Amino acid sequence: MKKTAFVFAWLWQSPQHVLALAIGAFLTATGRIEDCRRNANPPGDTVYIVKRSGWGVSLGRYIFIGDACCAAENIRHERGHSFQSLAMGPLYLALVGLPSAIGNNVWDRLMHREWPDEKRVKWYYSRYPEAGADRLGGILRPWSV
Ligand SMILES: [Zn+2]
Repeated sequence: MKKTAFVFAWLWQSPQHVLALAIGAFLTATGRIEDCRRNANPPGDTVYIVKRSGWGVSLGRYIFIGDACCAAENIRHERGHSFQSLAMGPLYLALVGLPSAIGNNVWDRLMHREWPDEKRVKWYYSRYPEAGADRLGGILRPWSV
């Protein structure tokens, strides 16, 4: 990516990047970063492996993912969110971040406790914006064929 395009994209996604830098600084200061992989995903995301399982978030070019969740498929899913961020720019947090965090994660944990894991996973990844992140990350789930 040319420098001008990189700078424009960084600014376009700046709300996510500012939040990511704050989270990265906090996690680093508290010793919760296990590994940092720069340019891990084309075209150059930074992937932080965090000492916490069951967690993944994509903020612009920065991906935070739990150490037990850092399989290639999960990173590709988060990369799909990176593409959503690039397309939506400053609207990403409202259009993807909030629906994902509240509409999917919190709702699932509160309302689906009795569901078997397989049903919860299928429900979660069938929802907007998770299905879109899968599609953009090139992930084909068994139920999406
Ligand atoms: Zn997701």
